[in-house]
Amino acid sequence: MKNKIERRKFIKETAKAAAGLTVGSTLIQSCVATGRLNTGGVNAFVPMPIQIVIDDVGWWSGEDGTERQEPYRTGIGRNHVPADYQAIVDLGVELGVRPQAATILCEWDRKNILREVPTTTWMREKWDNGKWVGPWLDEAADIIRNNHKHYELTLHGVGHEFWQDENFTRAEWADSSGQMRPLDQVELHLDYFEKLLDQNQLGPFPTSFVPTAFLHGFGLTGEHKMSMAEVLKKRGIKYINTPFYNMYNAEGAQFKFFGIDSEVITIDRGEDLLDWDVFSEKPSGVLTGPTCGLHWPNLLHADPSRNSEIVNAWVELLKPYNDKPETLLAKNSSSFRNQLVHHVCTKVQIVEDKIDIDFQETNTLNDQLSNTQLTVKIECDRKLTFNSDDLKIADLKKSSEKDNYLYTLLIERINPLDKAVVQFKAT
Ligand SMILES: [Zn+2]
Repeated sequence: MKNKIERRKFIKETAKAAAGLTVGSTLIQSCVATGRLNTGGVNAFVPMPIQIVIDDVGWWSGEDGTERQEPYRTGIGRNHVPADYQAIVDLGVELGVRPQAATILCEWDRKNILREVPTTTWMREKWDNGKWVGPWLDEAADIIRNNHKHYELTLHGVGHEFWQDENFTRAEWADSSGQMRPLDQVELHLDYFEKLLDQNQLGPFPTSFVPTAFLHGFGLTGEHKMSMAEVLKKRGIKYINTPFYNMYNAEGAQFKFFGIDSEVITIDRGEDLLDWDVFSEKPSGVLTGPTCGLHWPNLLHADPSRNSEIVNAWVELLKPYNDKPETLLAKNSSSFRNQLVHHVCTKVQIVEDKIDIDFQETNTLNDQLSNTQLTVKIECDRKLTFNSDDLKIADLKKSSEKDNYLYTLLIERINPLDKAVVQFKAT
């Protein structure tokens, strides 16, 4: 299928049918329990964390080159500029989060080293990136380096596709059925991604991965004796993000929203709010899962000096998720993974004046927890105080609207208990 919109639709619909998903179904569910406190209702939630993942960052050319067997890139019809990197940082700063920038690095090659791995680019042995070597590289690298708390560089790929000859095939890490590319090629592409990071001093090898074209297999694929997740784990990757509607062996994922593949958490990206090439438009829509996935053009304006208009529209759209009892915006990918495991596996229940918390299922995934904390939100129609003999309440925030109070408790597990209790009292 040449037409990319058709292709995308096809992939989505076939995969949805396979996964038994219903369009428009509400996926935001939480471990909700209701109890009564005198005349008032109390609800407890382990909120679903939300993480922003932005694909196809790193291109300097914005041209869709598919007709010439070059990558789709971002298809925006203008070159990318350092201000496009600043847009990612600004989004992170405004929301107090660290967006993942899933990055393609071939157009950062200052020394044409990719000639040594012809499958990485459309020019193969004749790769020449001279056109994209200029002061913008250092300017963008500075933005990335100086905003570590609000910019996570995520592995996406070297050239996004896989060139066996002059024609590209989708995609870089797996073929169109999700089968991993030959292991020696995968390792080489990873080596050269790292060399390009070093050339540009963009920091250490990433700890997160978004497969290009969302072509990925969960577990073993084809004749391989090692899964892609295991190959990545050896490089320090801890987290894979990809839509399960397009993942080979998605049924192998053990939990709602995620699966564990060779100890690497693989998270269902679900459906993005916008198509990949929506550009210079303010976003709208409702998130239905833990990933807010977008492509770089979705965050940018045709006039880069006006990028903030689109960024601010995303801030407006996303900020309310921090104020809802069922959701929160995760500060970074490690707290995201941690809270997601709790959201799915930790059960809360209100019994009289207590919140009973059950960690039994969570404890089976201890190696996925990056710390001993979790966030619980309590909704109530009156003021409450909380205390616990089993857990430490490390932080407590209260917000209120008329007679509705929302408490955000940051809870710290002191001991590896299976069950714990938090008591509350009306004031
Ligand atoms: Zn991509």
